[in-house]
Amino acid sequence: MIIDGMADRPLEEFGFKTPLEGAETPNMDKLVETGICGIMDPIKPGIRAGSDTSHISILGYDPYEVYTGRGPFEAAGVGVDVLKGDIAFRCNFSTADDMGIITDRRAGRIRERTDELAQAINSIDTIDGVKVIFKESTGHRAVLVLRGEGLSDKVSAADPKYDGKKWTRVEPMDNSSEAQKTAEILNMVVEKSYEILKSHPLNEERIANGENPANIILPRGAGAVPNVQSFENKYGLKAACIAETGLIKGIGKIMGMDIIDVEGATGGVDTNLDNIVQGILDTASEDYDFLLINIDGADEAGHDGNARDKLEFIEKADQVVGKLIDLEDFYIILTADHSTPISVMDHTGDPVPLLINGPGIRVDEIKTFDEKAAAQGGLCRIRGSDIMNILVDLMNKSTKFGA
Ligand code: ZN
Ligand code: ZN
Repeated sequence: MIIDGMADRPLEEFGFKTPLEGAETPNMDKLVETGICGIMDPIKPGIRAGSDTSHISILGYDPYEVYTGRGPFEAAGVGVDVLKGDIAFRCNFSTADDMGIITDRRAGRIRERTDELAQAINSIDTIDGVKVIFKESTGHRAVLVLRGEGLSDKVSAADPKYDGKKWTRVEPMDNSSEAQKTAEILNMVVEKSYEILKSHPLNEERIANGENPANIILPRGAGAVPNVQSFENKYGLKAACIAETGLIKGIGKIMGMDIIDVEGATGGVDTNLDNIVQGILDTASEDYDFLLINIDGADEAGHDGNARDKLEFIEKADQVVGKLIDLEDFYIILTADHSTPISVMDHTGDPVPLLINGPGIRVDEIKTFDEKAAAQGGLCRIRGSDIMNILVDLMNKSTKFGA
């Protein structure tokens, strides 16, 4: 169970405690009393992990091998059946004028009926024998997948990052003919998206209502879909993923996990934790050996620099933990995927606290769950890539190395 971005640095406003130290977490503390703690570098000491690369590492895959960009995981997370070798991108629906100037990168924060726009984009079908697959995500977000021979993920983004600039022509980032071809196709997709969307009935309605039309798509975050061994194949564990964001769901999907969707899971501090608990309990009662659980609100509060929200969300996450304590015959691993300190408002490379509770654990002396106490625990300091080895060994399912 990963409380996204939960770890932090000492905060003056909390008397130099972290939000986790300041929060009342009786259930986490209860698990600590009969568990073993440590701290974990999700990738390596000092490496600022993304949520994606951290989860990949914690699941025992090498992010430096598997991860070439965020696109493939986002695409898998919104339900595109990506194939090894596909090149995938995150996209924004944006507003462009006739000169190609992006006047609103988020197209008036469009929320509804983007599926109609996606359907129109999919009428492109193929360009030079390359299949173009487009799907809407939440809000103004979407994904684009290019499928075909001779493609590369070494291409730049079309998103100019700021309003008031012309969309950026996609350039190859190495000298390969594959990158050249991919850049050309992407530029055509962007141009065609404007041709298709500018007179789309939904956009005519939006203009009539004084809203910005979603009349162009801007790809970024190119990545190649990796060829990974499935989680079940790698560990002999049938796995499900209960996550809020498309990014983490996509990681589960690419590892071959079943994705459990929970209604009302927003990925924010306002998420429906009751539904998430129910989703976890329902899934735990089914025929699974492993659940990957990610709750995102603490990370959001960290990015917003909102210490009070972060502390309160950690207390709510503690209530979730409290409803899982009585599950029988389970190991619970509780940790974060990285620190998102209030003072930095982004991820840092600080290690995160880690707790393992379950049968046969060598219980240590730690009594509370926080960054400092966990550092004194029996697991000492480990890396994310150690976790699955430790778990599979505790489950007595690991293969002996040697005689
Ligand atoms: Zn994260
Ligand atoms: Zn984050």
